[in-house]
Amino acid sequence: MIDLVRKRLEHLRELGVDSIRLSTETPAVTRIAKTSADPFEQIHQEIGACTRCPLHEQRTHVVHTEGNRKARLMFVGEAPGADEDAQARPFVGRAGQLLTKIIEAIGMKREDVLIGNVNRCRPPGNRAPMPDEVAMCKPFLLREIAAVQPEVIVVLGNTATKNLLDTREGITKLRGNFQDYKGIRVMPTFHPAYLLRDPSKKRETWEDLKKVRDYLDNP
Ligand code: URA
Repeated sequence: MIDLVRKRLEHLRELGVDSIRLSTETPAVTRIAKTSADPFEQIHQEIGACTRCPLHEQRTHVVHTEGNRKARLMFVGEAPGADEDAQARPFVGRAGQLLTKIIEAIGMKREDVLIGNVNRCRPPGNRAPMPDEVAMCKPFLLREIAAVQPEVIVVLGNTATKNLLDTREGITKLRGNFQDYKGIRVMPTFHPAYLLRDPSKKRETWEDLKKVRDYLDNP
């Protein structure tokens, strides 16, 4: 009997079934999920109710990348805050509302772009994610970037910039100049949460975003 079940499970796995639900009804083994060909769905399935790093302990929701999966422009932040953790959507709090305005200022809509974070679970007290936490989560973001191949990625703030570009250089040095990530142009700029604390930095952010707009208008 055990052999029979094992063989049946192996066969299901060959067919692409990667999870099953046990039921008292017949058939006893019910197919509930087939591995998706959509890379985003595949990534969501793989992440599941993630416990790969300690950030899972205090999170409410895993916050996935959202937006246009054919986007020419992507924004990458650090990690969800309290509002994002509650709503399971990236950049929906005050900083997110400012990000939406920034996107609109360059003539685009939020739905046109892709928005994600290096880490998908909220760090306690909004601290920066630790290197081991970044190491667990960043590969999923990199797979999404590889699938979408945006023409430009705007990295928001110091932590996202350092983690995406694998650099020790800070945002003050890098902002405003296109960097390279695997052939994709990367524009580091200030995080909208920082702009809320220091609105005088909005002018520089606007200069950075104008460079992004000009590049997208004339690649
Ligand atoms: N800050 C981030 O870096 N990401 C969010 O999603 C929200 C705030």
